[in-house]
Amino acid sequence: LTPVPSDIEISRAQTPKPVNQLAEEIGLLPEELEAYGRSKAKVRLSLLDRLHAQPDGKYVLVAGITPTPLGEGKSTVTIGLVQALSAHLKLNSFACLRQPSQGPTFGVKGGAAGGGYAQVIPMEEVRHTDRLIVFNLHLTGDIHAITAANNLVAAAIDARMLHEATQSDKALYNRLVPSVNGVRRFSPIQISKRLGINKTDPAALTPQEVSTFVRLDLDPSKITWQRVVDTNDRFLRKITVGQASTEKGQYQRVASEIMDMKNRLARIVVGTSRSGQPVTTEDLVISTGKTLESGTPVFVHAGPFANIAHGNSSVLADKLALKLVGRDGFVVTEAGFGADIGMEKFFNIKCRASGLRPNVVVLVATVRALKMHGGGPNVSAGAPLPKEYIDENLSLVAGGCHSNLRKQIQIAHLFGVPVVVALNVFTTDTKAEIDLVCQIAKECGASDAVPCHHWAQGGRGSLELAQAVNEAASRSSKFQFLYNTETPIAEKIKTIAQKVYGADDIELSPAAKAKIDYYNQQGYGSLPICMAKTHLSLSHMPDKKGAPTGFVLPIRDVRASVGAGFIYPLVGTMSTMPGLPTRPCFYDIDLDPATEEITGLF
Ligand code: ADP
Repeated sequence: LTPVPSDIEISRAQTPKPVNQLAEEIGLLPEELEAYGRSKAKVRLSLLDRLHAQPDGKYVLVAGITPTPLGEGKSTVTIGLVQALSAHLKLNSFACLRQPSQGPTFGVKGGAAGGGYAQVIPMEEVRHTDRLIVFNLHLTGDIHAITAANNLVAAAIDARMLHEATQSDKALYNRLVPSVNGVRRFSPIQISKRLGINKTDPAALTPQEVSTFVRLDLDPSKITWQRVVDTNDRFLRKITVGQASTEKGQYQRVASEIMDMKNRLARIVVGTSRSGQPVTTEDLVISTGKTLESGTPVFVHAGPFANIAHGNSSVLADKLALKLVGRDGFVVTEAGFGADIGMEKFFNIKCRASGLRPNVVVLVATVRALKMHGGGPNVSAGAPLPKEYIDENLSLVAGGCHSNLRKQIQIAHLFGVPVVVALNVFTTDTKAEIDLVCQIAKECGASDAVPCHHWAQGGRGSLELAQAVNEAASRSSKFQFLYNTETPIAEKIKTIAQKVYGADDIELSPAAKAKIDYYNQQGYGSLPICMAKTHLSLSHMPDKKGAPTGFVLPIRDVRASVGAGFIYPLVGTMSTMPGLPTRPCFYDIDLDPATEEITGLF
């Protein structure tokens, strides 16, 4: 329809295919599916074993140029591209996405289901008389289960510290060591792990060994585990808990590294003992499960938009989808923010962990973001676009192409992967502007550059992109990592800063240097790096657009997410907990009592 209706109107106008039917069409067995309502389901991981021998399909990453605060359409391009590949080119295809976080849905940016005629449906689902918002809020409820699991760990740490502080070794021993038929039993594995000795008889332990076994002896100043909420709650940046007279003195803060599941959970380091040993969640005896769901066909798995995250969806979902589509099919997944952030982490962290190798990068650009990089005025969410962004302005467009677009193409080429530029067309873009972007993108080394009209036209509007991606994927790509993980931590950070961001050098604060030494001592020196940098500039300065040069990247602090498997340097003033703006999206989200419909979602 023209004009394009709102996302929620489009979503409501569709009747999604029943998930059972869809599952049958893509080759799932009934027992491999666990339905959640009519239009979404979880998929059993036994599928991976069943399809073990099946060749993988082609693996496509959608990344973007440095965005405006409004987002440039990576999710819509992802969905538009799979629609074009499957409905128009008749190739098996899957999209793999992260589950949207309540942070942007209720905060500034809105949901993350794509948009226009390129979105994941249903945005909501009718069950009895209640409408449940599914994609953009609770989906199958697993995100809340993750929050609960995270906070259970936080509660377990605090409680354990309190009990260790207030109880004798004997009392701890009696309460912590399980009794079988009246006899207390040690787990020989835990004994050997915690004490480094082989003893199975409790009576053979010396008092010192008993004490070491029952006391984690966490250092309160070195607790790295924090409580979480899936909301941009700026007042949780620093909080004090445990103010009741029975708990006073213990405290924790907020953020999460629970995105990947099970085996990663066990190795998450929650703090350090007073003797300097890392203490993991396994030491606290806690573990949990996993999630996986299917849409049309879209796997939405893991990865709330946590700020300190690699910004990608799960490896498991990609692996399943690659088997399901078969050799000639396509799996399209998205990396958050600009290519300097999400794509760099996709390659250096996610591909390293999964062993999967991408065939093509689709780099999303918009005329509005290019104009901003070419010297246009600032763009902010909620404010009307300045006239430079509405009227034709070829010199601003060219300026953005020769700076940010060129640099982001070069970054993808550092990894040896071909790039197709997808220009996400807005109604205000002129033909001359569109042609100019495509021409310069090709001059900058892109395999191809095409305009995309998926937002207004659905898959049909992405047909040219689908053809370009199909063509680029048929060529061989020579994928390589940017750094070897065995390189020292500071060198890895410097490589990313210089090669990806364009910095002259890095400057480590004394705190960052001390942390690097500490992580080296703990044996975490060979983890990959997950930079926590603003996504609004290639540099650490959000106002510096284009492709800044001549700057030194300040590293304020360095932290480790051992469970997730990366070291994360904090760059400049980057905050790990975003806040709500003056007028957040939730001001406009409401429930119409007459129709029981949710209004204000986008
Ligand atoms: P990203 O994934 O890059 O953050 P999204 O795909 O979520 O961006 O798009 C950001 C917002 O812009 C969404 O609300 C989407 O509906 C809207 N949008 C995307 N492409 C277009 C377009 N071509 N015309 C109008 N609105 C668009």
